[in-house]
Amino acid sequence: MRVLVVEDDRLLGDALQAGLKQLGFSVDWVQDGLAATHALALEPYAALILDLGLPGRSGLAVLAHLRRRGQALPVLVLTARDTVQDRIQGLDSGADDYLIKPFDMGELAARLRALIRRSSGQAAPVLALHGVRLDPAAHEVRYQGQVVALSAREFALLQVLMLEAGHVLSRTQLEERLYAWGEEIESNAVEVHVHHLRRKLSADLIVTVRGVGYLLPHPEPA
Ligand code: CA
Repeated sequence: MRVLVVEDDRLLGDALQAGLKQLGFSVDWVQDGLAATHALALEPYAALILDLGLPGRSGLAVLAHLRRRGQALPVLVLTARDTVQDRIQGLDSGADDYLIKPFDMGELAARLRALIRRSSGQAAPVLALHGVRLDPAAHEVRYQGQVVALSAREFALLQVLMLEAGHVLSRTQLEERLYAWGEEIESNAVEVHVHHLRRKLSADLIVTVRGVGYLLPHPEPA
């Protein structure tokens, strides 16, 4: 899943980007509030990690702008220990959760997974559809009970298709959800990953909608 980190502290921003990448997220990182607003207008992030004390435009102003535009993506606010008022204001301005610095990377990732899951209408931590079970925390996929080894991109693509089951996603939309800035997208990358997923899981799991994109269908209602 692709997330945006907004943090002006270089050491912390760098650590966040590296740590989240290692946990399977695609991460864009900006260091001021205006750049954050700009990125949020352009890219389809699954979640936003937002420091409140920022140059240019404050975190609270970024948040207020985001919600005024009607963007519903989950927001996790990072605050200093001594600023209860900031946290209250953050939650009241549309943040979904907060963490107090310094925090543990594992906890941050767990909170992000929970926020992303809830924002797509999933209550259960494990995604399950058509015999496929995807566990984001364990980074594990099973098909009909058997563990299947997937590359990081295959895993991310499957997760996006499962979270958005029933919706057709174009190749461009999928690329935008999988790749951060500066990451090289191999030509036909999405087609290749879909091909591998079909081979490793099931040939008819992912439907090609000619000229439009790909779809993981919702199960038929019983
Ligand atoms: Ca700051």
